[in-house]
Amino acid sequence: MKLRFAPSPTGFLHVGGARTAIFNLLHARRYGGTMLLRIEDTDVERSRQHHAEQIVASLRWLGVEWDEGPIHQSDRLDRYRERAEELVASGKAYRCYCTVEELDAERAAAESAGKQWRYSGRCRHVAGVSNEPHVIRFAVPPGMIEFQDLIRGEMQFEGELIDDFVLLRSDGNPTYHLSVTVDDIDMAITHVARGDDHLSNTPKHVLLFRAFGADVPSFAHLPLILGADKKRLSKRTGATSAEEYREMGIVPEALFNFLTLLGWSPGENREIFTRDEAAQWFDLGDVNKAPAVFDPEKLLWMNGQYLMRMTPEQIYPHLVAFLGDDPRSLEELRTIIDLHKMRARTLRELAEQMTIYFIDDDAIEYDADTVKKHIKGDDLATRLSSLHDTLASTDPFDVTTAEAALRKLAESQGVSAAKLIHPLRLALTGKGVSPPIFDVAVVLGKERSLRRLTRLIEQLSLLSS
Ligand code: GLU
Repeated sequence: MKLRFAPSPTGFLHVGGARTAIFNLLHARRYGGTMLLRIEDTDVERSRQHHAEQIVASLRWLGVEWDEGPIHQSDRLDRYRERAEELVASGKAYRCYCTVEELDAERAAAESAGKQWRYSGRCRHVAGVSNEPHVIRFAVPPGMIEFQDLIRGEMQFEGELIDDFVLLRSDGNPTYHLSVTVDDIDMAITHVARGDDHLSNTPKHVLLFRAFGADVPSFAHLPLILGADKKRLSKRTGATSAEEYREMGIVPEALFNFLTLLGWSPGENREIFTRDEAAQWFDLGDVNKAPAVFDPEKLLWMNGQYLMRMTPEQIYPHLVAFLGDDPRSLEELRTIIDLHKMRARTLRELAEQMTIYFIDDDAIEYDADTVKKHIKGDDLATRLSSLHDTLASTDPFDVTTAEAALRKLAESQGVSAAKLIHPLRLALTGKGVSPPIFDVAVVLGKERSLRRLTRLIEQLSLLSS
């Protein structure tokens, strides 16, 4: 068994392409097959080397591995020409000398007669070879074209409706139909899984496999991915490339898991699973026919679940990119990552939350809503000053001792502990929510915690006015 992912390097790796790659990989892994990466870069107008590099980098990041390749179709142009000539020699393809103007005129005539234009095939019967510019067209044989689709079942197309499509352009470059079929044969591909926007191309490929005397592979046309607006996923409703999700701070394991669930499910309500687990369960035949909906909120949720389950050692390599020019070491960050990882949905959020430990004590900005809610009462200044003194004499300055001291103080003041905890949180972090505040205080250390508390006390009258 051998599968392939065959992107055209005309842009970033789209999440739809990423899912296609993943499904090919999982099916190959499930059945001990081989996975090939092929860069379909014969469209010189639209293909770019940097897109190819970017796609390869995105696949690596995502954890899509391949056993062979990347093979570039642009390295194989002679092979496509050779195969096209073989078909001409055996009478299954022919040279077509019709000019663009002639074809345009035919098309215009058909349109004004209200008919859909198809090439008439008139060059089929032109004998001899001339040096005039020409293309090579496939002579489509009459009859039904049938093939099995692992997802959609039995497919039938009427050969009459397919015109004699071009295999080789006048500049000697192959069309997609030719290069994809020649390669799938030469590379012994047994299963072709690709987006169902290719469904209408497949009968042409089936004809070509037969014309070359090759076995027709199994096909699996993957359903579309829709955006939240139930239209084809596009920029309108959010990010569409794997790269954008990487930049948002999605970890690759989460994106992989999420994409795996677009059109497939392992059953038993399983949602979070590893690549290896998916590779034990996956089968292209179990993919849904119906389009899948891409829900960005669910991806954020899932990413949060991954962060929660990952260790600081696992998170850190992904987090580094979000830590600015001079990132701190894992050693310095381990405790902080542990404290915050269950409170962030993305690496970017995590990195932002962590900045509170590294900014100057007097650079803290107080969240206006939290100020409004918790900075009130004439006696607040006195109570916070006592808190300051209590914490100053807390020894050792650890979570249990500091918390016990605060609670005791609150009791003696006749207020709930919350009346001290909320202002303390505001003082230390500037925010209304944070990890348990004594954990934060211990990471900051006694001195900085006290300095931040003093600063809040000094600003009280300003804040409550
Ligand atoms: N290169 C084609 C694309 O990017 C895919 C071809 C195929 O999988 O057969 O749409």
